[in-house]
Amino acid sequence: MGYDDTNIFAKILRGEIPCHRVYEDADTLAFMDVMPQSPGHLLVIPKTPSRNILDADAAVLSKTIPVVQKLAKAAKEAFDADGITVTQFNEQAAGQTVYHLHFHIIPRYEGAGLKPHSGGMEDNAVLAANAKKVVDALGS
Ligand code: 5GP
Repeated sequence: MGYDDTNIFAKILRGEIPCHRVYEDADTLAFMDVMPQSPGHLLVIPKTPSRNILDADAAVLSKTIPVVQKLAKAAKEAFDADGITVTQFNEQAAGQTVYHLHFHIIPRYEGAGLKPHSGGMEDNAVLAANAKKVVDALGS
């Protein structure tokens, strides 16, 4: 299966649908997940199209992972998290639902579980407030 540019993240990259952006550079975009598994759940995507990690160019990955690290640190600080889970799913059998490579960054707390993957939609105002916390943490 190849890359289909009608996926939701391709539309976000083209500016066709909005997102709560927290970081952007020439190669990478990061924004809040609309169905967070924990407050502050965000996504990091390379701008270069690939379905997932299996068809990604290694050079693209080498630009993406430092941004994943940067956002993981910012999310830990912004949400005063005890830890950060980074996940990345490849194909339907592995739980992938959007077919543009992305890394999940999910703040974690001692003893607290996660809401379901692709569960309920978060309130827009909450997503906006959480995005601002990440932006502020990146700036500090
Ligand atoms: P996957 O299952 O492919 O690893 O994860 C896709 C993620 O994208 C899910 O966590 C889901 O909540 C999130 N998501 C789905 N549609 C949208 C959307 O329109 N905007 C944003 N920001 N996230 C989305």
